[in-house]
Amino acid sequence: MDVVNSKLWDVIVVGGGPAGSTVARKLALSKKKVLLLDSSMFPRVKLCAGWVTKQALIDLELDPDDYPLTIQPFSSIFIDCEGKSYETKWDEPASYGIIRYEFDHFLLNRAKEEGVDVRCGVRVRNIKFNNDSVTIYSDKEEFKSTIVVGAGGHTCPVARISGSISSEESVVLTQESETNIGTNVLESIAPNYGLPELFPEPDFNGYAWYFTKGDYLNIGVGCIGKEPSVHERLKRFLGILRKSGRIREGICLTKFKGHAYSIYRTSVRSIIGERFLLVGDAAGLAQDFSGEGIGPAIKSSNLASENIIDFLDSYKSLDNYQEQIYTLYGNGQITLGDKFIELLPSNFTQNIAKIMCKNAWLRRRFVLEGAFGIG
Ligand SMILES: Cc1cc2nc3c(=O)[nH]c(=O)nc-3n(C[C@H](O)[C@H](O)[C@H](O)COP(=O)(O)OP(=O)(O)OC[C@H]3O[C@@H](n4cnc5c(N)ncnc54)[C@H](O)[C@@H]3O)c2cc1C
Repeated sequence: MDVVNSKLWDVIVVGGGPAGSTVARKLALSKKKVLLLDSSMFPRVKLCAGWVTKQALIDLELDPDDYPLTIQPFSSIFIDCEGKSYETKWDEPASYGIIRYEFDHFLLNRAKEEGVDVRCGVRVRNIKFNNDSVTIYSDKEEFKSTIVVGAGGHTCPVARISGSISSEESVVLTQESETNIGTNVLESIAPNYGLPELFPEPDFNGYAWYFTKGDYLNIGVGCIGKEPSVHERLKRFLGILRKSGRIREGICLTKFKGHAYSIYRTSVRSIIGERFLLVGDAAGLAQDFSGEGIGPAIKSSNLASENIIDFLDSYKSLDNYQEQIYTLYGNGQITLGDKFIELLPSNFTQNIAKIMCKNAWLRRRFVLEGAFGIG
């Protein structure tokens, strides 16, 4: 039988990843009563290459020098195209590598320190939107709040139950493995220890990565489109890594796992309702081309918290949040430019992509600083 909690929370946040912990902390700092529910026990593994931009750390109000866990600044990055490695350098750290197992736990504890009531191991199963409140049901308990924030990632129950997910979304399929191998071994196998190496897929429908940071080796591949499958792409990539000595006999990698998430292209999700608002992957905000999702998760959560405060204190509608997200990331409408690109033959667009990867100025300006937000 459900335990019915009589307390009325100002806000319930579903999900304790970077999006959920950020919005919850911001609201607690404004003296709101916040409950955060996550189905996992923290620290928990989150599939991710673990690259964070400087802007994301600024938005988190987190000085990299004060972060006490693994953080790998990098001022150089390699792109491998047709068997040749192309390096791009900056004069100062261009981005950072973190371990999500540590990073997400750290952010969640920061939220807890500001007064957020964090309950881990509580899976949200159902949500009922009432006239003046929202009821959240887990397996054993029910909770009530004035408004709910969906921060439960790609399969967030708030997004699902509110009917916000579109069947037309562009989904990235990934396979990834992160292994603690130790710095000494990594230095002996990685030609560019501490620096990310990106390997665009031959059809440019995704890319693979080889990223060493601290004691960890992170390998993965992400792609859009079904053919070849993500498993075939991974097999091919592992062949390249073995042949080049980046992985060798005797190194036991953590089992590869798969995860899918939407990217913000067309058919964007409905991110607001009468008493809910979606942030991060729940809102489908990961970026086209780069797949960067941590930055948008944090940015959307900062904006969401400001709008929720206005909603609670001054009864303002949540429409402004949607407008702000559209201004930052687009409204999902197909433009004439999109239609034109779709009409171009794939070998033409692939040749353009190859030129962009090989030319130093184009690679830096449009691929790394433009699409990836590095630098
Ligand atoms: C292989 C891979 C590599 C990636 N690499 C990068 C990268 O290098 N850099 C980058 O910026 N982005 C990367 N991304 C994207 C990035 O991981 C996500 O965009 C980011 O995690 C979004 O954060 P979030 O807080 O919205 O969601 P999440 O981090 O997914 O957090 C959602 C939380 O909700 C909880 N939850 C889910 N369902 C329920 C439920 N029913 N009840 C309660 N809790 C629930 C989950 O346990 C989880 O803790 C990568 C993604 C993948 C798959």
